[in-house]
Amino acid sequence: FLEPHKSPEAKENKYLGGLLASGFEEQSCLSRQQFTSYRKPSSHSPSAYLLQRLRKYEQLHQKCGPNSDLYDRTVDQLKPDHVSFVTAECRYVVWISYSGLGNRMLSLTSAFLYALLTNRVLLVDRGADMTDLFCEPFPGTSWLLPLDFPLSQFKNFDINSPESYGNMLKNKVITNTAGGGASRSSPPSFVYLHLGHDYSDYDKLFFCEDDQNLLETIPWLMLRSDNYFVPSLFLIPTYQDELHQLFPKKDTVFHHLGRYLLHPTNPVWGLITRYYQSYLSKADERVGIQIRVFETESGPFQHVLDQVIGCAHKQKILPEVSQQKAIITTPHNRSKAILLTSLSSGYLEILRNMFWVHPATSGEIISFHQPSHEEHQQTGKQMHNMKAWAEMYLLSLTDVLVTSAWSTFGYVAQGLGGLKPWILVKSENRTVPEPPCLPAMSMEPCFHAPPFYDCKAKRGTDTGELVPHVRHCEDISWGLKLV
Ligand code: GDP
Repeated sequence: FLEPHKSPEAKENKYLGGLLASGFEEQSCLSRQQFTSYRKPSSHSPSAYLLQRLRKYEQLHQKCGPNSDLYDRTVDQLKPDHVSFVTAECRYVVWISYSGLGNRMLSLTSAFLYALLTNRVLLVDRGADMTDLFCEPFPGTSWLLPLDFPLSQFKNFDINSPESYGNMLKNKVITNTAGGGASRSSPPSFVYLHLGHDYSDYDKLFFCEDDQNLLETIPWLMLRSDNYFVPSLFLIPTYQDELHQLFPKKDTVFHHLGRYLLHPTNPVWGLITRYYQSYLSKADERVGIQIRVFETESGPFQHVLDQVIGCAHKQKILPEVSQQKAIITTPHNRSKAILLTSLSSGYLEILRNMFWVHPATSGEIISFHQPSHEEHQQTGKQMHNMKAWAEMYLLSLTDVLVTSAWSTFGYVAQGLGGLKPWILVKSENRTVPEPPCLPAMSMEPCFHAPPFYDCKAKRGTDTGELVPHVRHCEDISWGLKLV
């Protein structure tokens, strides 16, 4: 912990090298100002072009955001009695709140990149708790979808909704003529984009260039996803040049956009800073271990514990303990604070005891800390998700990170922290995999449910083999990630 804004890096990093806009009232979102005291400066600079596009986006959002005349005018097109369609000056992506918090943060960031690429304004459905969790990211306006938004049925949209792009194609309510353009007299004023993990082949056509041309004409896109769909945006020819300019280093998309968009509110920032100062700040090194087990029982499981210890020893993340030798540490020995996150409290108990009863052979002072053990995922509960957000953020402040395969919770931590984690390989039949963990190729999240379709040839293809910077993930063989 550094004194706020005392170090030269902290000053220089105050706006993340220009990534963050100035012009916010400081007290309204302390994390946006104070994070420099907790985070090391990023070793990845955003491109000048990204900064320029973000400033341009902020202007667009101010022009078209809630409470603007243009917003009122475009929203009128959604009302049942709206007069005939006029070309909209402002177009929108409405992100619908859905799924666990890590998933939401990834789909929201993907939706923002999509808005940036298509010159749309991103509006956020506040769901049960979005306002408790995140500060407003754009100065002088709001990203929250106004409560009187006329399309109230959007909360029930799902794979079967006739309003979805996929179902409209399937039912020929809309047809995509080559070269774009809807073949009905006027394009609909809104379309629901169902991009959840269970989406259909028709929904997946979203990722084709011609379909993007068609969607361009529609003022309101209602988007619901639990996935980080950014890697597949990199495969749409229309956006490739722009993406290359925005992100000359392709493995920094979530790192930059996540840090730009996702700032904890003051109550969550309190959870983060109090914990950090009490348990982590004084250690010479901080290690994050994220244990996420996708089982119906909450654990602890012996094979998971063995896997964590196996990985930590093999990669020299934790020292061995000595069963025989009496190794006496002095207060001057090097200290390591381990931040453990898990729904179960069992792992902490066992690890802490192991390093209490036996000395570390390295002589290091090892301490274990786990902020919460919520036992079950409780999507939609306020304090539960505030703690989850605080824990993802705390993990992102560590020096070395171990994450669990398949977990978006871990992806958020690694991306915000700019860390390439060790990934605990998904276990089969409750056995310890060999090797227990693998190094991540990049800090980017994995897109768990990408399409495998060649839009031009109109047949299946392995989308992980098309360009060098979109590869299959380490933890999910069919997933895609930027490297
Ligand atoms: P994923 O399921 O691991 O991909 O991550 P998500 O964040 O989307 O959903 C898991 C949800 O379970 C989180 O949002 C939390 O609500 C809860 N959860 C899972 N692991 C932890 C943990 O280590 N700490 C806390 N506080 N909550 C957790």
